[in-house]
Amino acid sequence: MSLIKNVAQQARRTNVVASKASSSGVYPLGGYNENKAQLRRETTAQYYRDHDIHHAAKKDSVRLKAAALLFTGRIPSNIDLIRSAQYLQSELPVRIAHRIKGFRSLPFIVVTNPHILKVMEQYIRSFKVISNFNDGRMVKTQDKVDDFTHLLEILLDEHGSVIDDLTQGFSSCHDHILEIFDGDEEKTHDLVQSFLDKTLTSRLGIRLLAQHHLLLKDQIGQNSRDRIGIVESRWKPAKDIEAIARKIRESWMFHCDNPPRVKLNGHTEAEFPYIPIGVDYILQEVFKNAFRAVIEAHANSARQMPPIDVTIAVNREDFTIRIADRGKGMKSDVIDKIWRYHFTTARGRQGYGGVGDLLSMANSNEKELAGYGIGLPISKAYAEYLGGKLEIKSMSGIGTDVYLTLKHIDPHKGHSFRI
Ligand code: ADP
Ligand code: MG
Repeated sequence: MSLIKNVAQQARRTNVVASKASSSGVYPLGGYNENKAQLRRETTAQYYRDHDIHHAAKKDSVRLKAAALLFTGRIPSNIDLIRSAQYLQSELPVRIAHRIKGFRSLPFIVVTNPHILKVMEQYIRSFKVISNFNDGRMVKTQDKVDDFTHLLEILLDEHGSVIDDLTQGFSSCHDHILEIFDGDEEKTHDLVQSFLDKTLTSRLGIRLLAQHHLLLKDQIGQNSRDRIGIVESRWKPAKDIEAIARKIRESWMFHCDNPPRVKLNGHTEAEFPYIPIGVDYILQEVFKNAFRAVIEAHANSARQMPPIDVTIAVNREDFTIRIADRGKGMKSDVIDKIWRYHFTTARGRQGYGGVGDLLSMANSNEKELAGYGIGLPISKAYAEYLGGKLEIKSMSGIGTDVYLTLKHIDPHKGHSFRI
């Protein structure tokens, strides 16, 4: 978690430096910030005639084994960083072009929604600045790698609101899509689900790679035993679980004097190499739901709320985290819909975070507790992208068990997943 924050803070810092420097004309990013307005004007027109995007979208993406990130070198060197920049220079435009193609295949009424159009234009602009960087030639010198790294920081920051924009966009388009499908809810749901699953997991992959590069840069020449880029060499699930549970519990304290406690058991001492960014996101969402369920179910009881029990099981090929709450579970009509984007039973409730705030949120997942109906579907898509699964078993009237199972990244323990 701290990792995500660090990168975000770093990105913001650099963004300020970059924009100041570029407006005074000294910052060598090809005047990225100055040219933004012009790029915006160009992108929509370009969308229809850009052969580069079309060409790049035909190439296959080169997905790295997660373990490959771990073994690029125990002590990251300048050569590693140049290689990493070159890989990103050729790989990111391909991935972004695939996503632009995804936007192109959406019905017209959806693409013209201002939120969705904004994201598509962001992707087109990013495609353009990355492919044109260094006049399209691979970076070879330290200076150029530094410039490229700054560019990545700026782009990461700029794409920070994509999830909010897309969910807002699709939420307001729902009725139009339904109309296209003659009122068929299933077809409407399939279109939204396949687009958002693909776009958001691809975005996760791109961000992991970019953040890996940024962190590697900070570690050059250091023999870091704890971390190589985004990979923590000795990740301890119990530690992240405790930190996330504490944070979410504190957030719920605005709504409840004494939210339930979280109790850990199982392999609480286990440590292994892992990339925590995705799993931290999923845990946050699952904890937000578990706390909400327990708090709402026991709001009128004077007794202490039943704890949320977390069990960790670490095995050779994978590990499972089970989060079990006594929040009275879900009825079958709710269970059937929980994996759908925008399904929520919290809409209209006060104070959990309202759709009106959506655009002002820099990092929605930390600030809102419920109400958008995107926590579970995104978490499931992320878990599957990371070679795992997210499952829910609920006993109506009693409580809910969430099982998150993920594969190890260590190649000695069987197959890993690809980023
Ligand atoms: P949100 O939290 O914004 O409503 P989610 O996708 O996280 O969206 O969850 C969707 C719905 O699933 C929730 O509104 C709630 O009805 C149900 N749900 C999820 N987790 C639990 C749980 N642990 N106990 C009871 N209901 C749950
Ligand atoms: Mg939720």
